[in-house]
This record gives sequence, structure tokens and C-alpha cells, in this order.
Amino acid sequence: MSDGELVDPFGRRIDYLRLSVTDRCDFRCVYCMPENMRFNARDELLSIDELYQIANTFIGLGVRRIRITGGEPLVRKDLLTLLYKLGERSELDDLSITTNGSQLVGRAEELRRSGVRRLNVSLDSLHRERFALLARRDSLIKVLEGIEKARSVGFERIKINSVIQKGINNDEVYELAIYALERGLDISFIEEMPLGAVGSHDRAKTLCTSHEVLERLSDKLELSPVTERTGGPSKYYQVKGFESRIGFISPHSRNFCNECNRVRVTADGKLVLCLGEDNAIDLKGVLRGARYSEDAMRSKIIEAMKLKPAKHGFESSQHVQVIRFMNVTGG
Ligand code: SAM
Ligand code: SF4
Repeated sequence: MSDGELVDPFGRRIDYLRLSVTDRCDFRCVYCMPENMRFNARDELLSIDELYQIANTFIGLGVRRIRITGGEPLVRKDLLTLLYKLGERSELDDLSITTNGSQLVGRAEELRRSGVRRLNVSLDSLHRERFALLARRDSLIKVLEGIEKARSVGFERIKINSVIQKGINNDEVYELAIYALERGLDISFIEEMPLGAVGSHDRAKTLCTSHEVLERLSDKLELSPVTERTGGPSKYYQVKGFESRIGFISPHSRNFCNECNRVRVTADGKLVLCLGEDNAIDLKGVLRGARYSEDAMRSKIIEAMKLKPAKHGFESSQHVQVIRFMNVTGG
């Protein structure tokens, strides 16, 4: 391994960081967290300077793409300071953010100005009551207005992410696809993952595979697989008559781990090597330790790569239940 690269024991080069800036959120999506979720105390969260320091070390180690996530990243009031600093880093090929869209009306413009190039907006339903049941917040109108605002400010790409659940919103996949395609937006349909036990929600009952979604869509749309690799877990399809694409993220039905190029850092400074396990390495302790140095942080991260597992086990017949909720890991 050269000095400026992160490579794991399986030869996978890690050049993509998902950096979570908060575990808090203004929604309570049923598959993501319980209504009465307990969040980190504020002093447990990394400060903006600390988040930047970690990002900076990763950039020095060859990371070229950073996605800001959460929780809902836009609930963090000082986020822009971080985005402007990262936006200035010429080494980065991409700076993107994943949001639930609830604050985009007021903030899309400043996000674009800060250097964010691409936006992922989560949207699981176009029906107000259903949206309110899924997000446990009646916010569909705000999100749709936010998406329109984002479209008007010139992001390089906007992608919609939809988690599809059987018996809940699987009858809506065509409607969601058309909503995105007609606006020139990509859309990815995501299989739900067993991240954090939510008492009121039985994941086994609602799992809807990408195959089922693809079949439904194929009744009405002509889809052809895109062969070029995109460097992510989505498998993309081109749709006849439209510019934008439909993707599928299929942790259960199509394992993509051999192409994994990413790691995640949680808002409280834990380095997560794989979504599918609870193991995490504490970077905050290094940052806040009396003997902090950039070199110590580099060594800790390089050493951690040895622990990256070959794959998650979501698609196996064994029951996998990760304790950590998705809002903590950052999607
Ligand atoms: N709050 C932002 C949002 O919703 O876009 C960013 C964080 S959220 C955790 C990132 C993505 O993870 C969202 O698209 C969400 O739908 C997805 N997600 C959350 N819990 C999930 C789960 N258990 N399985 C699959 N996707 C999940
Ligand atoms: Fe919040 Fe995103 Fe989780 Fe929904 S998926 S509760 S918007 S963090």
C-alpha cells in the first residue's frame, strides 16, 4: 500500500467517505428509528472543526468523494462552515449530501454555493397521508417544494432515494419513477436493511426485493441495464424515452460488497467499516486525546482498514440484526 492510499485486506481501495454530522432528525421514518429515539448529547458530537480534521486526514489518505449525511444533516445549524471548507478542497472529485428535503426550500441555494455538487433526497411516497405515516411527520408538501427549489439552483445531479416496503408503498413505484424521470432526476429504489430494532415495525413482513420492484416497473417502462460501473452499490437501468436512470440498491438480493469503496464516520466520531456489523473504531478518542497528532489519526485509520469485513450478511438466511440505527451510521 502506498502512503496516500487506503486498501483493505481484500484489495479494495477505499476512496469514499460518508461523514455523518448529526444523529438528530426532524422526521422519524418508521424503518429508520423509533418515535422516542434517544440521541447523543451535544458534547458527544464532533464539532465542525473535528469533523473537518477527520475529513482532512481521509483526504490525505486518498479519499476523493465525501458524502455528508446524518440523521438529517440540515438540522445541524453550523453545517455550512464545514461544507465551505470541504468545498474548497481541490483534491475532492465529489462533495454531496443526503437529505430528507424538509429544509431545502430555505437552504438549497446556500448548499449549492458552498460547493455541494450532488444531492440525494429521500422520498418514499407522493401521497400526503402515506408520507406522514412513513416519516411520522406530515411534511410531503415541504419536501416536494424543496426538491423544486433544489432543481432551480443548478446541482450537477439530484437523485431520489426510495425505500420500498411491501404492503406499504410498493404499489407506488411506477408513480415515484415517473415523478423522478419527468424531472430529469435519477431515482434509486432501496431494499430495507435490518439496522436497529424498531418495536413498532416488523422488517421481515415488509421486505420488498429489487426484483419485485423491477418487475412492476417493467410492466410499464422499457428498462435496459447500464453496463458502465458507477462505483457504488446501485445497479442502474436506462429507461426508454427518458434521460435519467433508475437504480436499485439491493443489499438482500444482490451482494455488492466486492466493489465496496467506502467507510463511514458517525457524528460521534466512530469509524464504521461496514453497515452490516456493529464493530466501530473510536476516532474521537484520538482527536480529543492529550497526544493528538495528524500522524496518530492516520495510523489509527490505516490500522482500522484491517478490520473491514469481506461482506455484510444481510442476504443470508441467518437473521442479522445490527444494533446501530441507520440515523446513527449515516445512510
Ligand atoms: N436524513 C437523511 C435522509 O433521510 O435522506 C439522511 C440520512 S438517512 C439515514 C439516509 C438514507 O438511509 C435515506 O435514504 C433512508 O431512506 C435510508 N434508510 C434509513 N434506514 C434504512 C434502513 N433500515 N434500510 C435501508 N435504508 C434506510
Ligand atoms: Fe431521519 Fe433520514 Fe432516518 Fe428518515 S431516514 S428518520 S429522514 S435520518
